[in-house]
Amino acid sequence: MTKRHHVVIIGSGFGGLFSTKALKHADVDITLIARTTHHLFQPLLYQVATGVLSEGEIAPATREILRHQKNAQVLLGLVDDIDLAEKVVKWRFHDEYQETSYDSLIVATGAGQSYFGNDQFARYAPGMKTIDDALELRARIFNAFEVAEFTTDEAERRKLMTFVVVGAGPTGVEVAGQIRELAAATLRRDFRSIDPATARVILVDGADQVLPPFGPKLGRATQKKLEELGVEVKLKSLVTNVDEGGIEMKHEDGTTERIECFCKVWAAGVKGSDLGQTLAEQSGVELDRAGRVKVLPNLTLPGHPEVFVIGDLMSFPDVPGMAQGAIQSGRYVAKTIEARVEGKDEPGHFTYFDKGSMATIAKYSGVVKIGPIRMTGFIAWLAWLFLHLLYIAGFKQRVSTLISWTLSFITNGRSQRVVTNQQLVGRLAIEELGAHSSGRLIRGTVPAAPRSNQTDNPNTLKE
Ligand SMILES: Cc1cc2nc3c(=O)[nH]c(=O)nc-3n(C[C@H](O)[C@H](O)[C@H](O)COP(=O)(O)OP(=O)(O)OC[C@H]3O[C@@H](n4cnc5c(N)ncnc54)[C@H](O)[C@@H]3O)c2cc1C
Repeated sequence: MTKRHHVVIIGSGFGGLFSTKALKHADVDITLIARTTHHLFQPLLYQVATGVLSEGEIAPATREILRHQKNAQVLLGLVDDIDLAEKVVKWRFHDEYQETSYDSLIVATGAGQSYFGNDQFARYAPGMKTIDDALELRARIFNAFEVAEFTTDEAERRKLMTFVVVGAGPTGVEVAGQIRELAAATLRRDFRSIDPATARVILVDGADQVLPPFGPKLGRATQKKLEELGVEVKLKSLVTNVDEGGIEMKHEDGTTERIECFCKVWAAGVKGSDLGQTLAEQSGVELDRAGRVKVLPNLTLPGHPEVFVIGDLMSFPDVPGMAQGAIQSGRYVAKTIEARVEGKDEPGHFTYFDKGSMATIAKYSGVVKIGPIRMTGFIAWLAWLFLHLLYIAGFKQRVSTLISWTLSFITNGRSQRVVTNQQLVGRLAIEELGAHSSGRLIRGTVPAAPRSNQTDNPNTLKE
């Protein structure tokens, strides 16, 4: 029996999942390798961080989603390296190493958080890209109020009840709005020594408007709504330092400011996954400033027509780093592979269809830009709700999200207020143990390893 064409797909985000599904009826075998067992719906991560949704509601198991797709096998692994000459993907589960060869390869490993060369900021200002990030932020946000409740020093208490969100894109706007609502509505009656409604939430960005991709008019409307909610918006302000006790910034007029705060959220900047660099070193393909791969018009690498790069890791004119870019590119490369296997003509160059952008500002208030349509307010919020519900993978997840939302809208309550010490300190503890400690930790061989300056690989299988 001849071996079927083998497609290896790296990543189970929008790009990886939708390309796998689009190959369901193709005469190929698929191996999907991803460092988490779930498909993550990143647009709702901020609701996990602020206790509206549980992690399971936005991250169904990839294996379950694909259980009826017989030509696809799902493997849990972190890809460290790709050998383009030998057509082999090298991956590991902590420190157990494996190799998988391919006929076609789809690299869909997305992008991580960029601190613009200041990676040390991450220690004090976690980003929001993974379930781990969202749960760590949840712990930091809720614990800030907890500690403020027993802190008697007024300055310390103010510091604990000040939250700074860096980056006024959709994620920053959504997080800032949610923390204010949490403080002013959900937590209002739960404390005795503090009044959570007095919490300061500050949104900082170097740009001259919030939500730059939405244009000035929607940006102004969004800023006004945020300010009505009590969010302080500081624009044209560049963050110059982040430390344990606060954040420093430089304003447009050259003045500097320090804000004392315990909890910071980093929602600015993306950086292509490290595999982009791996591909560049071996194929000579150019990377853009954010480390994304400048693919050919058919989304392949120069000199390697069997290797496709899609989604947030690809750099392609006019394709934003959004779910639709990943979904459409995933479906496109699946069509190309199927055409090749069947000996048919390949589709023409990849073209992106812009379906618009939307974000929520607060309860009953959203912002939408679709073609010529520009909208803010209740209808925009409803449109946002409907579309996000539609794109969450899994029937159970949709029903449960709908129930959680309904309860939260009616009662202002949030059912996901559990925080654990692991969520709060897990990432930092692993970093303290040093590079590649995870495998040894699992075996129990380094319960008290000496402190190392080396941090563990940030991509280590943590979730
Ligand atoms: C907080 C947030 C909010 C967002 N809101 C919106 C929104 O409202 N609307 C919108 O359209 N877009 C939004 N986006 C962007 C959207 O989520 C991304 O554009 C989309 O997820 C990109 O899909 P992808 O498949 O390229 O990458 P991802 O979804 O990031 O998936 C990457 C996959 O690769 C895996 N992976 C990474 N490295 C490795 C490795 N070395 N080995 C193995 N596996 C690996 C990851 O675990 C993951 O499964 C948001 C993003 C974030 C972070």
